[in-house]
Amino acid sequence: MKLEALVNPAILTQPVYEPGKPIETVARELGLDPATIIKLASNENAFGPSPRAVAAARAALGEAQLYPDGGSFALRQKLAARHGLAPEQIVPGNGSNELLELLGHVFLRPGDEAVMGLPAFVVYKLVALLFGAKAVEVPLVNHRHDLTALAAAVTSRTKLVFLPSPNNPTGTANSEAEILAFVRALPPHVVFVFDEAYAEFVEQPPDLRPLIREGRHVVCLRTFSKIFGLASLRVGYGYTSPEIAALLNRVRQPFNVNAIGQVAACAALDDSEFTVRCGRDNRAGLAQLETGFRRLGLEWVPSVANFILVRVGDGAGVFAVLQKRGVIVRPLKPYGMPDWLRVTVGTASQNERLLRELAAAVKG
Ligand SMILES: *Cc1c(COP(=O)(O)O)cnc(C)c1O
Repeated sequence: MKLEALVNPAILTQPVYEPGKPIETVARELGLDPATIIKLASNENAFGPSPRAVAAARAALGEAQLYPDGGSFALRQKLAARHGLAPEQIVPGNGSNELLELLGHVFLRPGDEAVMGLPAFVVYKLVALLFGAKAVEVPLVNHRHDLTALAAAVTSRTKLVFLPSPNNPTGTANSEAEILAFVRALPPHVVFVFDEAYAEFVEQPPDLRPLIREGRHVVCLRTFSKIFGLASLRVGYGYTSPEIAALLNRVRQPFNVNAIGQVAACAALDDSEFTVRCGRDNRAGLAQLETGFRRLGLEWVPSVANFILVRVGDGAGVFAVLQKRGVIVRPLKPYGMPDWLRVTVGTASQNERLLRELAAAVKG
């Protein structure tokens, strides 16, 4: 029997997520010295992890024979205190990507619909399709989510509405007032998913806790992969009502967050000096990149996150030239923006190198 005949047909048509290539892979493929390559492709923290998180992770390795605390007790306590919520409202995940999948498990059945922006974080669409739901994609306007159009896309079949703020890949955000009004107008059969992966880069991110208190179906997602610099350890979390948290807990694996990640995340939360500095250096880096793009006569989209879109014309071509010169960025053709590149904010010297190579690449 052919293998295909055995497979759930949704899997055969499931698109595959294409992550940015790791430095070692690019080095191997292009015959470059990995030490000379910089990766500004996946919105990782250019300033590394918090040294306190690294120390905590090192110490925890000595007990790697033990299963982690499946309930992530200490981490949930800390996060609850930080957000002024009860620990029962926090659901840690293997990155916030896992929470997106758990939301699919809990809420999506074949024939349901999930509403999302275009372009937005691709994992929303992948999750919808994985569960046999329809991904209803609503074009952004001026690179920002159009909440009126998003509301108009909601039907009786809509189960999930996704809104990332700031959005990936555009780096734009919607205002708190706008989002609160949008969610309050959603029908009660819809669960609103607010993806705050880059919230810590924003000085005053929208506060959706009043909506949770009002009993609305809202799930906020955060991650330790971005400003906290722990992408490799795979820790994220959701905060929501105790009822939705209990449902998400039902479908997750018992040991979904590893012990090294749990202690590192706790230590990272205590190192506000580090995150404040990263936020400040990131704003300086955005300004540096904007100045450079202006000098090169390139259009960009003003960003409040740790990455920025720049219009280079032949996105795939410029991407390839940059990569050969040891600078990895993200081409946006898969997001339907073939003229654009997404560049993660690097350290000052990485930004300088990117701008230098970019100048050569767009001339050539
Ligand atoms: C990076 C990112 C995430 C976080 O992914 P993790 O699984 O936590 O590493 C979630 N949402 C968006 C929009 C992102 O860009």
